Amino acid sequence: MDRTATDREKNRPVRMDTNHVFQFNCSPGVPCFTQCCRDVTIVLTPYDVVRLKNALKINSEEFLDRHTIILPKETRLIPMVVLKMNEDDNKRCPFVSERGCSLYEDRPWSCRMFPLDMNDDGTFSFVDDKSRCKGLFRKETQRISDWLVEQGVPIYDEVNDLFTHVTAPLRAQDLDIDNPKIYQMVFMALYNLDKFRKFVFESSFLDRFVLEDITIEKLKRNDLELLKFSFDWIKFGLLGQKTLVVKTPPEADNENAG
Ligand code: SF4
Ligand code: SF4
Repeated sequence: MDRTATDREKNRPVRMDTNHVFQFNCSPGVPCFTQCCRDVTIVLTPYDVVRLKNALKINSEEFLDRHTIILPKETRLIPMVVLKMNEDDNKRCPFVSERGCSLYEDRPWSCRMFPLDMNDDGTFSFVDDKSRCKGLFRKETQRISDWLVEQGVPIYDEVNDLFTHVTAPLRAQDLDIDNPKIYQMVFMALYNLDKFRKFVFESSFLDRFVLEDITIEKLKRNDLELLKFSFDWIKFGLLGQKTLVVKTPPEADNENAG
């Protein structure tokens, strides 16, 4: 192997599976405590937004206005939603306190995963600059699978996986949509869930789709159910999947009866 190839090999991030045991412990005793909560790009998923806005007891519109930056992607229907750092406070996350994350139970997926990155093939690597995270030099060890459960990652992975079933086909189909109303509707359904609930219950929506009473009750009260429903609605409307059933208009019923 030539020298460049050896260097490349040395610098290649180690890929770990869920059985891998790694050294890590993050607690107020580490010298870098809360340092990773400043000047960081945290991309929020729709489920992150649900958890955060509920933890803050504000609605999704207020949350998006106050705490996010929305970066449109030129060739993509779904923009990137990023948590806004506090420019007046050394770019610290607005939710960090001296004792750590004030929204710890509801912190975003990427905060739960730090200092690991998930690779496309489902393996894990450490973040680029390991030296910044002193927790990785502690003697305590963790098995990745146990650590993920401890961090509350599985429910995030489950919902994010459903989200990928929306984003991946949209990317693959490369839909040529230039109607801003469609962008707005898709964004509302994914990220502005309280507005989407109003849309479902205060428009003619329920007159158009067959929904069981039990489903309607769940959508009224449960944000996660509503979010999953919004995925189905986008798959129905944009991807042509049979995720919803359209009601038969009354005239058609009469014609059929006659
Ligand atoms: S949400 Fe919590 S864990 Fe994530 S950066 Fe902010 S303070 Fe840190
Ligand atoms: S950099 Fe690592 S050890 Fe330090 S606070 Fe963040 S996760 Fe914990």
